[in-house]
Amino acid sequence: MTQKILVIDDSPDIHQLLKVRLKNLDVSLTHAFCGSEGVAKAVETKPDLILLDVHMPDASGFDVCRELKGRSETQNIPIIFLTGAADVDQKVLGFELGAVDYIQKPFDSAELNARVRAALRTKRFQDMLAQRAMIDGLTGLWNRTQFELRLQDEVASTQRYDRPLSLIMLDVDHFKKLNDNHGHPFGDEVLQAVGDALAQTARTTDWACRYGGEEFALILRETNLDGALILAERLRQLIEGLTLRDKGQNVRVTASFGVSCSELCMNPVDFSRRWLITSADGALYAAKHAGRNRVRFADRAVVTPTTETHLAEGI
Ligand code: GH3
Ligand code: MG
Ligand code: MG
Repeated sequence: MTQKILVIDDSPDIHQLLKVRLKNLDVSLTHAFCGSEGVAKAVETKPDLILLDVHMPDASGFDVCRELKGRSETQNIPIIFLTGAADVDQKVLGFELGAVDYIQKPFDSAELNARVRAALRTKRFQDMLAQRAMIDGLTGLWNRTQFELRLQDEVASTQRYDRPLSLIMLDVDHFKKLNDNHGHPFGDEVLQAVGDALAQTARTTDWACRYGGEEFALILRETNLDGALILAERLRQLIEGLTLRDKGQNVRVTASFGVSCSELCMNPVDFSRRWLITSADGALYAAKHAGRNRVRFADRAVVTPTTETHLAEGI
């Protein structure tokens, strides 16, 4: 994947030179000609690397570096200083402020390329690790930690912009029996197939997550109850129709679904991540209770924090 480099330097000649010298790398360059423009473009484009001039008329590169490292949106972007001086103190100061490297002007082409490539390689590796910490290893869906964070964000924006938010929770039916009869590795295959079905069904704005064990969750932005129910039913059918085979035998897999939506919350003050999970989970329990392989939604009348215990009991 093409990585992005932001060049912050007041000299147009340096921009031109870097464009030519870095043309062999698979990178796209963005240009800023002063410190404030640089910070704004870093926030806007989230580059993988910043090449930052030390001497600029409006602000020194060191000040710009301090600002970038002080902001949560830009603090993890690696910075390489472009310095004209061979002054050791300046180089040391750059490192102390959090820069990963420096390149001395006039550029030696091979050195420039090597340092930029090294910084980009490290960034790619860091991104991969950060991504892994958010992803469930078995299914490739977002993991539980990410589910909680995303739901928190979505609940906050639902409250701010008064848009509907839905949550589907699903649990594979009699999964323990499936593991017992066909073995744990087959159970894992089933979870992967269910995970694929979720990933296929979700839109790019939805969050398909593995909640834990054989439970999954789908956070649906700007989706009302009707929309969420249609999606849950589609998923139910998709899972029911999966062709899974073990030792020449077809194995049937089904799941039960609980759906909840911000529209069902009678009192907006009660609406929270916890409310949404509890109500969807209560509906899921009701679906199990009613015979499994079906979709149930949280009942408007019973979904209040005081009746959480009832929901947990499937009443
Ligand atoms: P129900 O229809 O009521 O949901 O019954 P169930 O058997 O699906 O539910 P239960 O909670 O009793 O069992 C869940 C099983 O899921 C037990 C556990 O060993 C298994 N499990 C949890 N995580 C994994 C996993 O990553 N891989 C496999 N193969 N099995 C798992
Ligand atoms: Mg379960
Ligand atoms: Mg289950």
